[in-house]
Amino acid sequence: MSAAVAYPEVEEYEALLQFLYMAPVGLVQLAADGSILMLNPLSAQLMMPLSRHGELTNLFEALAPVAPDLRQLCAAYPADSGQICDATRLYLYGDQAGHGPQVLSLSMLKLDANRLMAVLSDVTEQDRRERQLRNTDAWLHAIMTNIADYALVSLDQRGRIAAWNDSIGRVTGHGREAVGQPYALFSPEEATTPMRQLDRLREADDNGWSLDEGMRRRADGSQFWASAMIAPLPGRLEGESGEPAYCMIIRDISDKREISQSLRQAAYCDHLTGLSNRRAFFESAELELARNKKAPRPISLIMLDADHFKAINDSYGHPAGDAVLCRLAATMRAVCRQVDVLARIGGEEFAVLLPSVGLEDALAVAERLRAQVQRNPVVYQRQRIPCTVSLGVAVMDESTTGFESLLARADQALYQAKRRGRNQVALWQAGGGT
Ligand code: GH3
Ligand code: MG
Ligand code: MG
Repeated sequence: MSAAVAYPEVEEYEALLQFLYMAPVGLVQLAADGSILMLNPLSAQLMMPLSRHGELTNLFEALAPVAPDLRQLCAAYPADSGQICDATRLYLYGDQAGHGPQVLSLSMLKLDANRLMAVLSDVTEQDRRERQLRNTDAWLHAIMTNIADYALVSLDQRGRIAAWNDSIGRVTGHGREAVGQPYALFSPEEATTPMRQLDRLREADDNGWSLDEGMRRRADGSQFWASAMIAPLPGRLEGESGEPAYCMIIRDISDKREISQSLRQAAYCDHLTGLSNRRAFFESAELELARNKKAPRPISLIMLDADHFKAINDSYGHPAGDAVLCRLAATMRAVCRQVDVLARIGGEEFAVLLPSVGLEDALAVAERLRAQVQRNPVVYQRQRIPCTVSLGVAVMDESTTGFESLLARADQALYQAKRRGRNQVALWQAGGGT
């Protein structure tokens, strides 16, 4: 611990040191430019996943991947002292064991013109519980609102409809011929795959239930927006087919779709580009990797960063920079598939998760993105703004232990692409090279 600040009273200083050491939260004292003056062991421990090279010298830099705006936020704080932010959640990468992201809570205090204090605590468990509660709440609400219009379907071990009842007829229009068919019968053809269907059964096995929202299809071909929950039936006999093993409840929630969509959008969308935000990206990745563990298939990750973006802001102004970011998002949407997860994970940094895509295809997508961006300069207020991007590609393999390592690899590849002169694609390869 280094102490660059002179305290009038030695005892007061000793007492503060003692407090910093013993505090049950992470405490970091920093200068206005982010350089760390003091930190206690717990804060070092909490920030460990972020200090890639084991270095913790500047808090803004250390937290940049998860709180890119922190420096600006602190600089813009108008008062001489006071609370800059309160319990902001930071979503760190999932750990090596494939657990979800670690969630930190960060509060920033301005002590005086030259000193700031950061208070960090681990709220991973609390965040997970809140998420689960939100899901359960939404589900209970959906069920209770109108008890009349849900279909109760029993499924066998392989996800085939085990028996017919009136509620199935009422909600989906299917008759007894539905028995024995996979429950994909209720989904539009392009909306699911047999593999996804099985994934949901496994999810229900592991978590006690599996909940999703999406389009469903009636017997006459018409579609409706539904919430569907699958839960394993207690005491079922292993290995016996034809016997009900799960129950599925499908509820028509067409009228609530708009409300739930706008709520989701607020929490999971990046305001500027409309892509997924950092949080949504990590949640989707977490889910995709969990699925992948049960049924391995390739997964690729592309990281994309605008080249010399600072210069674009400086030459054309911040709003023009924003327009460029929106255009990058539009290009990503045009090039990628619907099942790919597109996100803005930092200021001018984007990521694409490509489920079921291997090395060659991922490289092709990255190259298409690069070429499209270069080919189409953004026109903003009659000014042509040329822009290029650098991209890093990494593919999940046996040596990638979790999302964190996949992300780190794509990031290293991106760094290589930058170092080699930008406006290019680099692939992560074993042995440190790309
Ligand atoms: P490099 O090629 O190495 O990536 O250089 P760069 O200039 O793109 O990278 P650097 O990280 O130095 O600068 C990123 C800039 O992005 C700095 C920041 O002001 C700007 N930025 C971050 N978020 C936004 C935003 O929402 N809108 C705009 N217009 N600019 C942003
Ligand atoms: Mg950049
Ligand atoms: Mg960047």
